[in-house]
Amino acid sequence: MKLTIGHLFPDLLNLYGDRGNIQCMVQRLRWRGIDSEVKTYSLEDNIDFENLDIILLGGGSDREQMLVCNRLKEIKDKFKSYVEDNGVVIAICGGYQLLGKYYETDDGKIDGLDIVDIYTVQEKGRLINNIFIESDLCEMPIVGFENHGGRTYINKNKPLGKVVFGKGNNGKSGYEGVVYKNVIGTYLHGPLLPKNPQLCDYLLTKALERKYGELFKGLSPLEDKEEKEANKYIVDRYSNKIE
Ligand code: GLN
Repeated sequence: MKLTIGHLFPDLLNLYGDRGNIQCMVQRLRWRGIDSEVKTYSLEDNIDFENLDIILLGGGSDREQMLVCNRLKEIKDKFKSYVEDNGVVIAICGGYQLLGKYYETDDGKIDGLDIVDIYTVQEKGRLINNIFIESDLCEMPIVGFENHGGRTYINKNKPLGKVVFGKGNNGKSGYEGVVYKNVIGTYLHGPLLPKNPQLCDYLLTKALERKYGELFKGLSPLEDKEEKEANKYIVDRYSNKIE
């Protein structure tokens, strides 16, 4: 078995080590004896969506998001078909905002892919925090770090989780991220997947099920001793803290 992972515009969207999410997916597949190939795409490259099993869209500054936005208009339809065909997407922070209809900044409006019915508006001050949330996608709480000026409103969509500590989508709703089909959008970076191996395995499982159907019998469990200890440390530390 083999998965192909597409990293979109890493030269522009790669804040806070988002690339580590790819290394994590590759390594967790390797530990299960599953092959992978990573393809990186620059702005002008043709994206062969039909060959991809997982797409990563990382974080970026407003300036970089503005640069990416014109290219998104050109790939929007193909990207949408990939998503509607249950393609797996992990979109972090700036990438998460770009999944939606728009991101309105003080310097202008950045049009998004309009793949998920969400929108983002820049509001006063930045939301900068360690954060942890509870999600029904994983047993372990999902931990990370957030740093965003945009506030995201997800309409009727399902959130990734409920904020236990931190700010989340907009600092008001009490929710973080979004889940739509096999797309996950989130403000958590740091990077996300090495810190949250269960979320990584969730995405890998979705991609393997889509590609191999019944032939795929599930991922073999890994011990994840260090990951579990680190997760517990964060959760314990921030559970007792009052903001
Ligand atoms: N530029 C966006 C914001 O500030 C996203 C930042 C990020 O990707 N960390 O809201």
